[in-house]
Amino acid sequence: MTVSVMEETLNPYQIAQQQIDAAAAYLNLPEHVTQILKQPKRVLSVSFSVRMDDGSIRVFEGYRAQHNDAIGPTKGGIRFHPEVTLDEVKALSMWMSFKCGVVGLPYGGGKGGVICDPRELSKGELERVSRAFMEAIADFVGPDKDIPAPDVYTTPQIMGWMMDTYSRLKGVNSPGVITGKPLIIGGSKGRNEATAQGCVYTILAALKDRQLPVQNATAAVQGFGNAGRIAARLLSEAGCRIVAVSDSKGGIYDPNGLDIERISALKDHSSIREYGESFVISNAALLELDVDILVPAALENVITAVNADRIKAKIVAEAANGPTTPEADRVLAAKGITVIPDVLANAGGVTVSYFEWVQNLMNYYWSEAEVLGKLETNMIQSYVAVRDLAQEHSTDLRTAAYMISIKRIAAAMEARGWI
Ligand code: GLU
Repeated sequence: MTVSVMEETLNPYQIAQQQIDAAAAYLNLPEHVTQILKQPKRVLSVSFSVRMDDGSIRVFEGYRAQHNDAIGPTKGGIRFHPEVTLDEVKALSMWMSFKCGVVGLPYGGGKGGVICDPRELSKGELERVSRAFMEAIADFVGPDKDIPAPDVYTTPQIMGWMMDTYSRLKGVNSPGVITGKPLIIGGSKGRNEATAQGCVYTILAALKDRQLPVQNATAAVQGFGNAGRIAARLLSEAGCRIVAVSDSKGGIYDPNGLDIERISALKDHSSIREYGESFVISNAALLELDVDILVPAALENVITAVNADRIKAKIVAEAANGPTTPEADRVLAAKGITVIPDVLANAGGVTVSYFEWVQNLMNYYWSEAEVLGKLETNMIQSYVAVRDLAQEHSTDLRTAAYMISIKRIAAAMEARGWI
């Protein structure tokens, strides 16, 4: 299959709009419905100043986008990254709507981002940036309005600081304003592992559908943050052989299987590349390995028209948001590769965020077994619904997932009298 590399956009906002069009083509929706869905309902752009450790004042920029609140309050993470853009945050808020829709959560999509590199901030600076951003968006969010959570380079500790800032501003304890918090202040058991755990549930289901054994199935994981690191561990515990992992600086590869525990320890104390000089591999080469399972777990646009033809994995499970472009999707589908789309594959995170929010509102907390049991049931049911719809319409899983979500959102908008 030939694709025009020149024409492909890597703008995530345009990509999200193309994905909506692809699914809407099956649904026979009035034009105004897709028009509503193709942009966020509200966007807030803020700048705020923070005193740095050396006494200087630095001005930061951040965004919060709320895509659609027909089904319920908006929900989605806050990303701290030097390459955050407004279009990226808008796209991520749209993907959150479709993610919540496909797993049946009573939320619309939201997302936030701050342009900063947390790896270059001291702990005190990071705390001040986190609190200042929350202060800047405090009137825009709330437990019944828009509920943030962790995303790339944001942690439970950052969620704790943000919840504290919001609570102090409002003069009440308000754990339900944000999820992914430390357990002691209203976090949920299982939230930290939830994104990876949900992803692994869908991978196991896809392996079964493709009649591939779990035992010794080979896997490559690109990205070693919360999702990638835990996915590698859980896949290895399930019996898979993790042959490659990487972080933003590069990866390591051993066809005989890597020791994930050792790599995790190296990541915490130095670099995963200390595993051994002879094992070093680039991120680009990792993506093209001949493996059963490829898990992109970092950022957008890693599988594009440029490399899609060289992807050899049988299953691509998108733990990251937006790793595959629409052009690449077409190539992978033509090659018979199963792509478990981000809106399904990584929906475990927001699912357990929902459980956390419910527990906060009830002030009644569940055991880990209860959380994981509910997560598994929801992920498997959602996977089966997406797979069956894809088969029915002879389309890919992403388009089917969008069809399910768009139908739900459109029904909610109709019930409210918006359309
Ligand atoms: N940032 C995560 C995502 O992209 C989690 C969102 C949440 O828990 O609200 O799905």
